[in-house]
Amino acid sequence: MIRKAIRGVKLSRKEIERIKLKRLRWILKYVYKNNSFYKNRFKEAGVDVDKIKSVEDLQKIPFTTKEDLRKNYPLGLSCVPKEKIVRIQMSGGTTGQPVIVPYTRKDVDQWKEMVLRAFYIAGITSKDVIQITPAFGLWNGGFGFHFAADEINAFVIPIGAGNTRNQIRFMKDFGTTVLCATASYPLRIAEVAEELGVDLKSLPISKLLLGAEPWTEEMRRKIEELFDAKAYDIPGLTEMGGVGTVGFECPLRNGLHMWEDNYIVEIVDPKTGEVLGENEKGEMVYTALNREAMPLIRFRSGEVSALIGYEKCECGIEHMTVERIKGRTDDIIIYKGVKFYPSDVESILASYGITQYKIEVGSRVKILFEGSEDLKDKIESDIKEFIGFKPILEALPKGSLERSRGKAKRLVKV
Ligand SMILES: [Zn+2]
Repeated sequence: MIRKAIRGVKLSRKEIERIKLKRLRWILKYVYKNNSFYKNRFKEAGVDVDKIKSVEDLQKIPFTTKEDLRKNYPLGLSCVPKEKIVRIQMSGGTTGQPVIVPYTRKDVDQWKEMVLRAFYIAGITSKDVIQITPAFGLWNGGFGFHFAADEINAFVIPIGAGNTRNQIRFMKDFGTTVLCATASYPLRIAEVAEELGVDLKSLPISKLLLGAEPWTEEMRRKIEELFDAKAYDIPGLTEMGGVGTVGFECPLRNGLHMWEDNYIVEIVDPKTGEVLGENEKGEMVYTALNREAMPLIRFRSGEVSALIGYEKCECGIEHMTVERIKGRTDDIIIYKGVKFYPSDVESILASYGITQYKIEVGSRVKILFEGSEDLKDKIESDIKEFIGFKPILEALPKGSLERSRGKAKRLVKV
């Protein structure tokens, strides 16, 4: 499987186009035949799956939303009989009905293969000691990393979430070289390491694979400095099979390369649903081409990104390039006509060394941060200049804001 994963990374543009179209035509017929939800949806929209001749034709097909998944709980969107399902995972949702994603054996293998592509690009081998800090449970966090790390016969520490002191202890005692985590967790580790008097730079960690939430370049600089290691962005969402399935960061940091032979990625205007051109910010829409239990067609992810292009990258990869995910459409804040994402505020705060913050949005925007009082004026003028509004700022002593175990909750609507 490792060889297969490497071949996938190295596909030429021509091969990608060929596989993509072939799989698209196949998957549309497959869901039509095996799932009544899609059958009805296509019929209502007047879509004849036999007439889909190009990737552009996909635009004729309606979107699948998180709401569709909720309504069809538990397994209404599955295309296989229950006997073929080998596991389920659950997707993060706000309230109500959980979103369940079923896997067949082939789907688990696909997940593993995609994470192996990431390992190959990051140069992770059997010699590595891989500490997996996302949770092992219904939230998909830890398993993809685990499957791939196990496949290459690395030294795996499947520690899961929480107990930061133990995490640091294991890093020291077993000489962890690769840390898999949510993007905000390394900062928490750094705080506890400081309390314990452990110098993270002295540990053998050389790579961090960080995903599951958007993080900025400023945060990357901070993490890389703290750990004296390289941090990679690993995108992925449960609905598409978990962290690490859809793509991986370009090793030259030109953006994210999305595995087009496995997923068609469209970036659409969140309001009109129209497909956008290069460099236009919009919502990522995924079509799973190579999954069996629940391949979603044109799934609206809520992730915000922009297309960079389809040209061969300087790193040699010929899969499409998109911008790193900046936020979620539901996180966008519109305040007095100014649109911005929590990550825009984060960039400014990080430039003053602030990593712990919370944004409260009500009739005014209030930013609480852990840091010194005299930074308030500077931050205020930066936010005014670069984002375009005047926030209320509150400086708090270190340790005042709640620390998260998984994804950080930075935005609160009050
Ligand atoms: Zn590249």
